[in-house]
Amino acid sequence: LSVTKYPELKRDSRFQSLNDKHIDYFRAVLGENSVVYDKDPESDAIVHYNTDWFNLYRGTSSLVLFPSDTAQVSSILKYCNENRLAVVPQGGNTGVSGGAVPVFDEIIIKMSRMDRIRKIDQVSGIAVVDAGVILENLDNAVSEHGYMVPIDLGAKGSCHIGGNISTNAGGLRYVRYGSLHGNVLGLEVVLPDGTVLENLSTLRKDNTGYDLKQLFIGSEGTLGIVTGVSILTPQRAKATNLSLIGLDSYEDIQKAFVRAKADLSDILSAFEFWDKDCIEVVSEKMLPGVQFPLSSEKPYEFYALLETQGSRKEHDEAKLESYLESLLEDNIAKDGVVSQDIKQTQSLWAWREMIPEGMTKYGPAITYDVSMDIPLLYKLVMDTRAHFEKKGMIGPDKDYVKLIGFGHVGDGNLHIMAATNRNDYDLQKQLDDFVYTWTAKHSGSVSAEHGIGISKIGYLPYSKKKPVLDLMAKLKAQIDPRGIMNPYKIFANKYILSALG
Ligand code: FAD
Repeated sequence: LSVTKYPELKRDSRFQSLNDKHIDYFRAVLGENSVVYDKDPESDAIVHYNTDWFNLYRGTSSLVLFPSDTAQVSSILKYCNENRLAVVPQGGNTGVSGGAVPVFDEIIIKMSRMDRIRKIDQVSGIAVVDAGVILENLDNAVSEHGYMVPIDLGAKGSCHIGGNISTNAGGLRYVRYGSLHGNVLGLEVVLPDGTVLENLSTLRKDNTGYDLKQLFIGSEGTLGIVTGVSILTPQRAKATNLSLIGLDSYEDIQKAFVRAKADLSDILSAFEFWDKDCIEVVSEKMLPGVQFPLSSEKPYEFYALLETQGSRKEHDEAKLESYLESLLEDNIAKDGVVSQDIKQTQSLWAWREMIPEGMTKYGPAITYDVSMDIPLLYKLVMDTRAHFEKKGMIGPDKDYVKLIGFGHVGDGNLHIMAATNRNDYDLQKQLDDFVYTWTAKHSGSVSAEHGIGISKIGYLPYSKKKPVLDLMAKLKAQIDPRGIMNPYKIFANKYILSALG
């Protein structure tokens, strides 16, 4: 497999290379079974940790460490800082920006063994857990007390809550439960010099000075390692209902969304949309032979999936049905179905959640997560298609095998995905340049929820002005003066280098 290289990046020569003395230290601190070392970064033992989920980015690390507790993380970072060894924290490695894998030979600190539920407060619903707890496991744990995690995404079976926080992941229910910046109450973070920043507050209100945890939410492992999390979990809804609708235009999607806010406002928990090519992806690559739930002769141009969460199933179902009827009567939706049971609910969600994985089955898949004013969202997909079709680059045997659009309408967040026929830096760059220039021109953000990682380092200035970048670099230099934490990520290299001198 060839994986995208980074021609403009050079390994920072100030970092030490690993030697036997380092490996001996890590084995002594963590134990033999918590250290995976292989000089060949492509070996079966290690290649998986070096490669990102979308198979676009691959580093050449020969060492993966598996700490079991905060004290071990602290010892690792202190030692790495003193010896100037670069590290990359890794959660579930489902990130979309290449942030969780090394660029060169950074030591991978894998958080999967830190997976304890420390405390769940049955009255408030506040959970305090290790950062390496898998999101779905956390949801199952709080559900025993009648709560749910306020974030949900297709990768929930693999991603860690610490990874979610480090990327400030958005997900499917953002429209209802909001950002992790609001739901996270406290964090325990190990700083690069080994200091443990114990700030695991379980208070909903606390205005004592700077709210430092916010700095680490979305910092993509560049400032420290999150080891513990305190998070507010809302009441688990007694009733979840779901409706899938087929529509003829993106205009109609917007009308359906506005009406959903009016008719279902207090119970609306998700409003997702995708274009007709996404259906082809899922039915070809993920659910072959499975009948799509809306059986029209030809596919509609767009689909929307609406979820409600409330306390009375029949009441919510009646509301959803009457909403759907009104859309059909006014010719906004062309067809629709309301799920009748949990099995049908899961199968409807599958058509949405399997889109990204389906795309990876065609070839190396590039993903964008831009945000902008809602009316503009799909215009970006149309303009991108038109631009590359004109160049003859889109089609089954062409450079971009498939190009699709889907996203979280309510959050103004669009995902464009392109599956390519080969791993080629230039192919990615051409698409990046078009999508990000278009987005910046329309006052959007180059990353709504996936973060900058390695994939967007050159494009951060498209969304952030120089004084903001300068302050970010100063903060980075203050917290991580030796630059060991996930180097080459977020900032274009020159910002880090100039700040570190
Ligand atoms: P990783 O990928 O392991 O790491 C991500 C970043 O966080 C890296 O920079 C890493 O260094 C850092 N990091 C990880 N753990 C720690 C830690 N403990 N301390 C410090 N830094 C750390 N994202 C969304 O926002 N919304 C979606 O709807 C969504 N859907 C997805 C669907 C699929 C099928 C897939 C594969 C991905 C999806 N993602 C989505 C992206 C991804 O799941 C999220 O970014 C997730 O939050 C990453 O968590 P992780 O544990 O896998 O982190």
